[in-house]
Amino acid sequence: MSERNEDMRSKRVVFVSNCILNANNKVREFARYPGMFSQIVSTLDKHDVGIQQMPCPEVLYAGNLRWWGSRELYDNVGFRRFCREMAKQTADYMENYEIAGYQTVAILVCDGSPTCGYTISSSYENGGGHPAEPVRSLKPLPGVYMGQLLEEMESRGLKMPPIYGLPMDNRDKTNEEIIADFDLFLARTIQK
Ligand code: SF4
Repeated sequence: MSERNEDMRSKRVVFVSNCILNANNKVREFARYPGMFSQIVSTLDKHDVGIQQMPCPEVLYAGNLRWWGSRELYDNVGFRRFCREMAKQTADYMENYEIAGYQTVAILVCDGSPTCGYTISSSYENGGGHPAEPVRSLKPLPGVYMGQLLEEMESRGLKMPPIYGLPMDNRDKTNEEIIADFDLFLARTIQK
């Protein structure tokens, strides 16, 4: 006989795609309710089922300003690996529930999503939805990788070497001019 007293829990759980409980994570232009899909929540509640919200892979990978993706964009090695890490955590919950004798009643997802669809998932042969010719500007800030690298180096107290950005986007400069400038920089840096 169990030494633990029973409480009110139903021991029934549904795993739910993140945006079903938070429309703010939907890709822009696709939210069909302001906050949560409340009818789904009340239906689950009616059946005494607990809700386990799964992470939104697209938000964590591409943020809330992302454009519509597709299988063609997301089905790549990096994103699959990223999703696998999250899937492992979700499966950890399932395994724990199984060990405890709880029932995973269902996994409720959003069909049509290139990431969370089950019976169907979006496909755009040449990429994703909307922007054909986005307007570009240049911000005087490091790119995302460089920002992370600088922070990581700083947090480890590493000596900061000179950093030189090759002006590869400057159409007014020829490759020869770019190389000549870099050569000069290198010569000066090495002399110090
Ligand atoms: S990736 Fe999944 S959880 Fe995120 S918005 Fe799309 S369907 Fe919802």
